[in-house]
Amino acid sequence: MNLIESLSYEISKLPGLGSKSARRIVTFMLKSSDEYVVNLSRMMLDLKSRIVRCSVCGMYCESDVCAICSSASRKRDRICVVEETEDVNSFEESRVFDGLYHVLWGRISPYNGIYPESLNIDALKKRALGGELKEIIIATNPDDEGDVTAMYIKKIISEVCPDIVFSRLSSGLQSGSDISFASSRALSSAFENRVRL
Ligand SMILES: [Zn+2]
Repeated sequence: MNLIESLSYEISKLPGLGSKSARRIVTFMLKSSDEYVVNLSRMMLDLKSRIVRCSVCGMYCESDVCAICSSASRKRDRICVVEETEDVNSFEESRVFDGLYHVLWGRISPYNGIYPESLNIDALKKRALGGELKEIIIATNPDDEGDVTAMYIKKIISEVCPDIVFSRLSSGLQSGSDISFASSRALSSAFENRVRL
């Protein structure tokens, strides 16, 4: 494989891109200024060296504790549990939630070899045991694996913290849809109409 083919192949592995789009991107880069391509490459390297997981909630950020966890204006008695950092971004854009988040880094999916131990669930349990929490809103994606993950979290945390209320996003989100792609309106509606688990 020559360089154009190799780079196209690597780019085609990115989410949502096929081989045709990958080749178009490579052609675009060849026609772009040197400065643009150098900056892009530098940022991609920085991404791996500078971005870490927040030591409290597990979302991607540039410091030990993310801006949301360290904010004094967020309500600390409620946590919205999501699968990935991009789900946090969707909720923040919809401005429907003023509490804290917890990022699971995925969801339970035995078919894909993802079991509870590989998710960020122990850290959530520790936060629940901290005593400040009144509600955990589980916003895993609305499909079978998301539902299994929600029920598992409720089971293991309610065993040690029986007073915490668990809820799950409901109407407004179609089954099988992805939270990170949901519109702000759909998210707000699903949030406001959340149901108790
Ligand atoms: Zn955080």
